[in-house]
Amino acid sequence: MGRPFPEDALFLGFDSSTQSLKATALDSRLAIVASEIVHFASDLPHYKTSDGVYRDPSGGGRIVSPNVDVGRSSGAPPREAEERELRILESGGRLRQRAAARQRLLEEGSSAILASLDPQSGLLLQLSEAFSTKESPIWMDSSTTSQCREIEKAVGGALEVSTLTGSRAYERFTGPQIRKIFETQQDVYDDTERISLVSSFMASILIGGYAPIDETDGAGMNLMDLKERAWSKIALEATAPGLEEKLGKLALPTPSPEFHFKKSCLVIQWSGDNPNSLAGLTLNSPGDLAISLGTSDTIFGITDHPQPRLEGHVFPNPVDSSGYMVMLCYKNGSLTREVRRGSWDVFSEYLERRPRKAGIYYKEHEILPPLPVGYHRYTVDVDSATEREVDRFDAPSEVRAIVEGQLLSIRAHSERFGLPVPPRRIVATGGASANRSILRVMAAVFGCAVYTVQRPDSASLGAALRAAHGWLCERKAGDGALPEAGRAGRRGWRLRAYGELMRRRMEIERRLVEKLGRQ
Ligand code: ADP
Repeated sequence: MGRPFPEDALFLGFDSSTQSLKATALDSRLAIVASEIVHFASDLPHYKTSDGVYRDPSGGGRIVSPNVDVGRSSGAPPREAEERELRILESGGRLRQRAAARQRLLEEGSSAILASLDPQSGLLLQLSEAFSTKESPIWMDSSTTSQCREIEKAVGGALEVSTLTGSRAYERFTGPQIRKIFETQQDVYDDTERISLVSSFMASILIGGYAPIDETDGAGMNLMDLKERAWSKIALEATAPGLEEKLGKLALPTPSPEFHFKKSCLVIQWSGDNPNSLAGLTLNSPGDLAISLGTSDTIFGITDHPQPRLEGHVFPNPVDSSGYMVMLCYKNGSLTREVRRGSWDVFSEYLERRPRKAGIYYKEHEILPPLPVGYHRYTVDVDSATEREVDRFDAPSEVRAIVEGQLLSIRAHSERFGLPVPPRRIVATGGASANRSILRVMAAVFGCAVYTVQRPDSASLGAALRAAHGWLCERKAGDGALPEAGRAGRRGWRLRAYGELMRRRMEIERRLVEKLGRQ
C-alpha cells in the first residue's frame, strides 16, 4: 500500500502544559524524528515561577501562570517558550497542539496586534499590550467555589450543569473563572475583546488572528451545550453578561485544516491536553478504552451514548465528528496499590493467586465515588450473591482485592457513563501498566484484549498525529489511520463472575456513600 504522505512531510505537535512546552515532530511514516521540551522553571528562571506557576501565598487556592504571558510586567514563560519552539517550525511542517486549561483575556484592539505580528521581532514585545490581565488562572486554581455554586444554582443544580455541559461546575473550568473576573475585576472583563483558551491562543499567534475554540476543548469550560455543540445561552447567562461575543465561534473537533502558517505549512485546529492524549493513545472509535495507571488512575473512552453524571466529564469525540469522549479520574491509583507491596514481584505473584475477595480501599479521599479514606473488606459468595464484611485479609487476598476492586470500579463507572462493556479493546498506560499480572486481571475483568503503550508524551504525539490527520482531511486522501500499539496479552472471559462481583461492589459502594459520602 502506498504511503499517504509525501516523503518530505513533517508533522509537528505541541503540548503547552503547566510546567513546560513540548514539541514532537513526525516524519511521513509517522515515526518520531524530533522532540523538544522547554521547562518553564529551569529554562526560564527569570520568571521566578515554582513549577511554572505562581501560588497565592495566602493559601486562598488561587494559582495562576504569569500570563502576561506577555507582558505588561515581566513577560511570561509560556510566550517566550512558544517563541523558542516556534523556531522549529522553520523546517516547515504541519502542526497541531494540545494545551492544558488556561485562559487568555485579550484586550480591545488585540486582533489588530495579532494581524500585524512581525516574524522578525520578538513575540513578547509585540504582544505586551494585548492582554487585559497580567495573569491567567490555570487548572490547579481552586478559588472559585462560590462561583461554581452560583452557576449551578442558576442552571438548576450540579447534575443539570453536567447534563447540559458534560461536567458539573468545576473550580478550574473557564466559566467559573470568567465569572470570578467579572465579579471581582469588572473593568478587566469589560475591557476584554476576546477570551481564548491556551489552545486557541497558540493557534491565534500562528495564524495572525483570533482562532476559534474547538468543540472538544470548549466542552471543558462549563459553557457549551454538549448536545447542540454550541454555546449554551443558559450557561452563558449564569456566568457573565455579553459573554458570547467575547468567546467567538466554536470550531469542529475534527482536525480540519484551518489556516496556512506559510505556503507549505497548514495550521490545524488546536485542542486540549486530554483530547490530544486520546489521539496519542490511538483511540478512535466507540468501544476503545484507555486506562492510565499512574499516581492517580485516569480513564478515557469513546461512546455514541454518553450518560453524564456528577463525577466525570463528557466531551465531543476529538478524532471523529460523531460520538463522545468520556473521562473519569480516580485519586486512588498507584499509592493505594503500593499499600501491600513489598516488591512488585511478590505483588505480581500474589495477584496470580485465587480466591477472589472484595475490597474497597481509599488511601486518599476519593472522587469516584466521593468517599473518605478507609479500607473495607468483604468475602463474597458469587453463587448466592451475598457478602460478609471481615476485618482483615491475608496478604495475597489483600493485593488481589485492591487490584480487582479498582478495576471493577472502573468497569462499573465506565458502564454508568455509557461506555461500551465489554470494550472493543483497552490501551493500558502509566507506570503500573508495566505489570503483566495487573494487565491479566484487567483483561479478565473487562473481557477484552489489553494493549500497552509507554509514551509519556502522548499529548504532543497525539497533536502531531492529528496534524497528519488534518493534512489527510485536506487532501481527502483517507481517514488518517493511527498506528497500532503493541499487544499485551489476553485471558479467559470470566465476564459473568466478574459481573456479579461488580454488582456486589456497587451495592457496597452505594451503602458506603449513603453512610459516609461527601457532596
Ligand atoms: P504519574 O501519574 O505520577 O506520572 P506514573 O504513570 O509514572 O505516575 O506511574 C508511577 C507509578 O507506577 C508508581 O507510583 C508505582 O506505584 C507504579 N509502578 C511502577 N512499576 C510498577 C509495577 N511493576 N507494578 C505495579 N505498579 C508499578
